[in-house]
Amino acid sequence: MKVLVLGAGVVGTACASYLSKAGHEVTVIDRQPGPARETSFGNAGGVCPGFAGPWAAPGMPFKVVRWLFEKHAPLVLRPQLDVQQWKWLAAFVANCTVERFAVNKARMQRIAHYSKACLVALRHETGIAYDNGSGGVLQVFQTDEELDGAARAAKVLASFNVAHRIVTSAEAIAIEPALAKASVSLSGGLHLPDDETGDCHLFTSRLADLLAERGVAFQFDTTIRALLTEGDAISGVLTDRGVLQAESYVVALANEAPSLLRPLGIDIPVYPVKGYAVTVEVGDPEMAPRSSVMDEHSKVMVTRLGQRIRAAGVAEIGGYDTSAAPDQAAGVLHAVRALFPQAADYRQVSYWAGLRPMTPDGPPYLGTTKFDNLVLNIGQGSNGWTQACGCGQIVADMIDRRLPAIDLDGLTLERR
Ligand SMILES: Cc1cc2nc3c(=O)[nH]c(=O)nc-3n(C[C@H](O)[C@H](O)[C@H](O)COP(=O)(O)OP(=O)(O)OC[C@H]3O[C@@H](n4cnc5c(N)ncnc54)[C@H](O)[C@@H]3O)c2cc1C
Repeated sequence: MKVLVLGAGVVGTACASYLSKAGHEVTVIDRQPGPARETSFGNAGGVCPGFAGPWAAPGMPFKVVRWLFEKHAPLVLRPQLDVQQWKWLAAFVANCTVERFAVNKARMQRIAHYSKACLVALRHETGIAYDNGSGGVLQVFQTDEELDGAARAAKVLASFNVAHRIVTSAEAIAIEPALAKASVSLSGGLHLPDDETGDCHLFTSRLADLLAERGVAFQFDTTIRALLTEGDAISGVLTDRGVLQAESYVVALANEAPSLLRPLGIDIPVYPVKGYAVTVEVGDPEMAPRSSVMDEHSKVMVTRLGQRIRAAGVAEIGGYDTSAAPDQAAGVLHAVRALFPQAADYRQVSYWAGLRPMTPDGPPYLGTTKFDNLVLNIGQGSNGWTQACGCGQIVADMIDRRLPAIDLDGLTLERR
């Protein structure tokens, strides 16, 4: 079957891989000159099913109010004259109950663990390398209050059979020795040994190269303007280079999907939440993280990607602008310097900001719509690198009318 995949981020490209493997004739379209040039470009590099969970959590609305008054707050709210932002915020708050959190967390855990298994299988099949590592993630705490929270988190992890261990600060330093030089004191940590790391942009680019060799067509520098319909089917995609047609269409357009779907009567609550990253070359490898450290205090994740360190964090709810605000970028830099002060020359960092395509409840939207040949693969939010392979496999299964390997309850348009 001829399939058009709209979007060459990690989500669209991974999906193209499974569709091509299933024997389809696949074309991937993107407005950028290459793959993974938007949100998939500079993320924190964590493939972390252990951490997968909704941001809409009990107590979160109170934290947001407190953070409104902090300079380097992990969450920044910039109100817009945009009804979509307010609808999204209202739905987010409605999901901050104990019951909704439990339901949403279970849904995200299901897709995230499945997806990691798909990524590992793809890696073995293709031999693809992307500055990847399998050294786990160490969450570190700076206060006793944060450490108390780890005990609650550990119970949740145990309920999902996620390998984990609460560690003392000395044990945390044994796992990540460079933390011995941290300029902040640690109260302890939570280690998730099975999580992985890797450069999402490198993965996507190399996967796209492999796919191109396998016959997948990539049409870059092509902006999609509208989805065209005929009866209950999509008849084509209107782009700035003319109309493109296929038998099936996969929407992997992240934050741009809602505005293209709304004219078709499909209203998906995906809204951008901006994050910031800094990348720096490792100066002294002994002083750098071995794998990945998640600083609970600043909510900044610091990951070793080959000879580089990537630190990323901040959730800024303020529209579609991707410029890096100096205060927020400085906050991320401050956090990585505090943990690994001697790892690099921090005067030589590169800054980046990207928009997480977030749903208010957390899980993505996968699968069919009221149009027979239109399939969604959007809204992976802060976990899109972790979830891309699993979502791609599921969407390929759905197009072929195969039963996906996991229960899709809560991952489709029909969710409650
Ligand atoms: C700071 C930060 C840190 C993160 N850290 C992690 C992490 O550690 N682990 C993790 O799992 N996830 C992480 N994420 C989330 C992850 O990066 C995203 O979920 C993921 O990249 C989304 O992939 P995507 O393919 O859906 O979106 P994108 O990569 O944005 O791809 C969408 C594509 O659609 C194209 N497009 C859009 N509109 C059009 C149009 N009209 N015409 C043509 N093309 C169009 C774009 O050019 C783009 O290439 C992080 C995100 C941020 C911002």
